[in-house]
Amino acid sequence: MTILKFDKLKFEKLSCPNGCSNSDRKIIIGKDTLHELEGTFTIVRCNNCGLSRTSPRPDQKSVGYYYPDNYRPYSSATIMPSSKGIWKSIRTWVRNNVSGKTTDYLPANSSGRLLEIGCSTGKFLNAASNLGWQVEGVEFSKIAARHARAQGHQVIVGQLETVELPANSYDVVVGWMVLEHLHNPSAVLSHLYMAMKPNGVLILSVPNFNSWSRRIFGQFWYGLQLPTHLFHFTEPSLRKTLEKKGFINCKFSYQANIKDFVLSLSIFLKNKGYIRFSSVLRNMVESAGLKIHLFYPVAALAAVLKGSSRMVVVVRKPH
Ligand SMILES: [Zn+2]
Repeated sequence: MTILKFDKLKFEKLSCPNGCSNSDRKIIIGKDTLHELEGTFTIVRCNNCGLSRTSPRPDQKSVGYYYPDNYRPYSSATIMPSSKGIWKSIRTWVRNNVSGKTTDYLPANSSGRLLEIGCSTGKFLNAASNLGWQVEGVEFSKIAARHARAQGHQVIVGQLETVELPANSYDVVVGWMVLEHLHNPSAVLSHLYMAMKPNGVLILSVPNFNSWSRRIFGQFWYGLQLPTHLFHFTEPSLRKTLEKKGFINCKFSYQANIKDFVLSLSIFLKNKGYIRFSSVLRNMVESAGLKIHLFYPVAALAAVLKGSSRMVVVVRKPH
């Protein structure tokens, strides 16, 4: 693999993908807070449709620079903290009964063909397959895809825009925190629409740009993840984007996400010079212990009031 250098990266400006006339407002200027790589980035909001986007952004060949081999979302999916006995049982119970599971969003019949876009190391494919779904994945990272394949899953490595998918074939397509990473979400949504069976279900989760955390922490919000997040959705702007592609029965729900608030606070404190307190918070999240659940009441309240940092949308392709 070619090693990219910052001064060789190419950045591109993008007009609103919903085809609006040019009328943007700069709303946030920020940096890569995940790996602290070079660059300063701007988020603009389209005054016509309300969709926010990172512009200028690294082009499709350059963006790999911001996904280093130790890219956090991949490592956290592969390296689980070890805990034993009673602690392991409590953690599992909390995850299943308090934090909620991604499989809860799947249709109840538990049968049929399911495609996960951005399947990473295959954690969700395992869970869905255990429920009886016939699962397949698409993944951009070869390393992550290798993990998923090692567990017996069929995974295509490639860009979602160009990957070959069979027409009218999937009962369910899911994408957890994927849409905001895509250079051309509109083209990908059309591609998925084509691959879904009539009456098929599409389930997506994205960071909520209208969340309390984003309003409180601004450029330090963990869900911002500049510059790998190219689009920054709210319920109205995502609904518009999906309906424009022909999807119907748009249903939104909000996840009680505890980690987001703690990590945002950690990033904020680090930037204000409180390095030690910042590390304490980060370690609390990374050790995935029980202390972090002290923040659960706030996260639950945010979810009820549609202010949590992660939203899930379920839509259908018409009959
Ligand atoms: Zn627009």
